[in-house]
Amino acid sequence: MARERAKLVVGNWKMHGRIEQNAPLLTEVAAGASALQDVGVGVCVPFPYLAQTQALLADSIVRWGVQDISAHAQGAYTGEVAAEMATDFGATYAIVGHSERRAYHHETPELVGAKARRALDAGVTPIVCLGETLDERECDATERVIGAQLEAVLLMLSEEQAARIVIAYEPVWAIGTGKSATAAQAQNVHAFVRSKLAEKGATIAHVPLLYGGSVKPDNAQELFGQADIDGGLIGGASLKSQDFLAICQAAQTVLQ
Ligand code: PEP
Repeated sequence: MARERAKLVVGNWKMHGRIEQNAPLLTEVAAGASALQDVGVGVCVPFPYLAQTQALLADSIVRWGVQDISAHAQGAYTGEVAAEMATDFGATYAIVGHSERRAYHHETPELVGAKARRALDAGVTPIVCLGETLDERECDATERVIGAQLEAVLLMLSEEQAARIVIAYEPVWAIGTGKSATAAQAQNVHAFVRSKLAEKGATIAHVPLLYGGSVKPDNAQELFGQADIDGGLIGGASLKSQDFLAICQAAQTVLQ
């Protein structure tokens, strides 16, 4: 049963944070998360703050990660960061294929697949983002777009590798806009993604499927209560400990 899967809530700080602001945020999240059961919590921070994050979260249940990763293991790739470098700082997660990377850095579905594979090879769990634009939704192309983005990633992975990824469905029109998908819209796409995963193998069908896009304390519970929504990838609201913890608590509430 879908409802038996544990929930996972991961913050995506994007390009926000400063050393001084991060410390209370991380400390408060660590303290608040300690009261949760069956809810995994993570934060994906800018690369320069990995060491600070590791130091402040090491003794907590909160995991941490990065927001992108190179498709290469090492070499002459100026400005890129290898997955192993993130593991040097204890990173558990790497977001790959966020719509901001696809749009502003022209990342192709194939590159996103290569990044997911590289992360897995390095022992990092990729959080693979999928999402359609508003135009694509309005042309009824949502399933075609999401299906193609997903397929490009799965093509790069063995069944064993695919079973170790996390997927985040993030409609582009809902990210940072304050306009979340309705619970029914999100559930429909999640069910579609789950069916595509099931075609690839029974173990893959159970990977965590997160919803992202303007999740807030007041809409989290309804979203997380959907059968195929296993938690959330949280942007803006992850920068305020109270909001982020309230969203984590919503994940806990739907499990009770
Ligand atoms: C995101 O950037 O992954 C995201 C979901 O942002 P927000 O929650 O701010 O819409």
